[in-house]
Amino acid sequence: MFDKVLIANRGEIALRILRACREMGIKTVAVHSTADETAMHVRLADEAVCIGPPPARDSYLNIAAILTAAQISGADAIHPGYGFLSENADFARMVEEHGFVFIGPSHEHITLMGDKIAAKDAAKKAGIPVVPGSDGGVPTIEEAHRVAAEIGYPVIVKATAGGGGRGMKLARTVADLDVAFRTARSEAEAAFGNGEVYIEKYLGKPRHIEIQILADQHGNVVHLGERDCSLQRRHQKVLEEAPSPALNATQRDEIGRIAAEAVKKIGYRSAGTIEFLFEDGKFYFIEMNTRLQVEHPVTEAITRIDLVREMIRIAAGAPLGYTQEDIPFIGHAIECRINAEDPETFMPCPGKVGLYHTPGGLGVRVDSGLYSGYTVPPHYDSMIAKLIVHGTNRNECLMRLRRALDEYVIDGLKTTIPLHQRLIAAADVIDGNYDIHWLEKFMAEGG
Ligand code: ADP
Repeated sequence: MFDKVLIANRGEIALRILRACREMGIKTVAVHSTADETAMHVRLADEAVCIGPPPARDSYLNIAAILTAAQISGADAIHPGYGFLSENADFARMVEEHGFVFIGPSHEHITLMGDKIAAKDAAKKAGIPVVPGSDGGVPTIEEAHRVAAEIGYPVIVKATAGGGGRGMKLARTVADLDVAFRTARSEAEAAFGNGEVYIEKYLGKPRHIEIQILADQHGNVVHLGERDCSLQRRHQKVLEEAPSPALNATQRDEIGRIAAEAVKKIGYRSAGTIEFLFEDGKFYFIEMNTRLQVEHPVTEAITRIDLVREMIRIAAGAPLGYTQEDIPFIGHAIECRINAEDPETFMPCPGKVGLYHTPGGLGVRVDSGLYSGYTVPPHYDSMIAKLIVHGTNRNECLMRLRRALDEYVIDGLKTTIPLHQRLIAAADVIDGNYDIHWLEKFMAEGG
């Protein structure tokens, strides 16, 4: 096992990884920008190294500085968390080339799944159903018209290098296609330095359902069930739950088995997530995320498996030590992503935290780097906390979540807690009756 792990991230996820390391007797090295000197992940780590000024490109994305920090601190392995360098294949390769272990998949798998066209192709070959669409990239507007006419409107133009919902444009009819194609291309070029796009059938009322996978270096693969992440705003997840209220046991077993078999076929290792859209009883692959996900705690809550610990064990070469039959699915869990944002306008509201009080009690988990007197810096993502609640069934979970949200006090900042309170009081959410467009409609209608 590793003696010392460097955590190449910040905020709640850095803390999450630090906690797993502590419980495994592994020493931790935090890295931080000058804006994060007082951050909780820095305060709790065994060692901390400043890697640059506040902008992420000069610090949390600064590969040379991070590798140097690993060198000088004598770390054996690096955990990238999510975001930042977690899906950067060059980073994963360089980590290994410098003699450290990358706690994640191989850089070849990151490259494969980072190219959404190649990923879709690999998924199809591994027996996973995909969304009907173009065979590969669509280079010209003429080609776009041909493909769209063939698969039928509405269609969605997506960036090959996409992520975070960027470079994605809907064309409801042929009249929208020219603009959708051009804007998706220029957005992709600006965001990813790669303007290639492809076209897919646009599904009108799907749910977003993803399967969590764990695969070790010895060919053992298990799935840890699904997460339903259909409550989204601008293609970004807001609240996630497991299990999905939309699946029955047969559907769950089947998609889990298909995902696990595919992962085994491609020889993947570490934690990974296969994302699907689910409509009219059918699953359609959209992408694979080759990292730990923000919403991983809901899976931890229902399976009682510590995903970060498992990632570390797998990276160190340990076998999973259990099979699919050993994995329990217990009760129901929901996660709320709490952002430092105006709950009406979604404008980021960084600033100084006044009184801070977290909810507690049975089945309540708060993952956050906040504390009283902490100043949330303006340079990074606005997510400041995750509230995860577990109950023996969905109803108990919702009731517990309501009381936990009511208990949570974060003075001094505007947060999205009121949005979550409204959301879980909505009849459709209580009934589990929502698709990926539900939340935006709910807000447009003043909900
Ligand atoms: P990203 O990598 O940018 O997150 P994804 O391919 O994972 O992009 O898609 C993100 C979200 O966009 C999905 O959860 C869904 O809400 C929406 N989406 C993607 N593809 C389609 C599609 N073919 N039809 C309808 N919605 C889609």
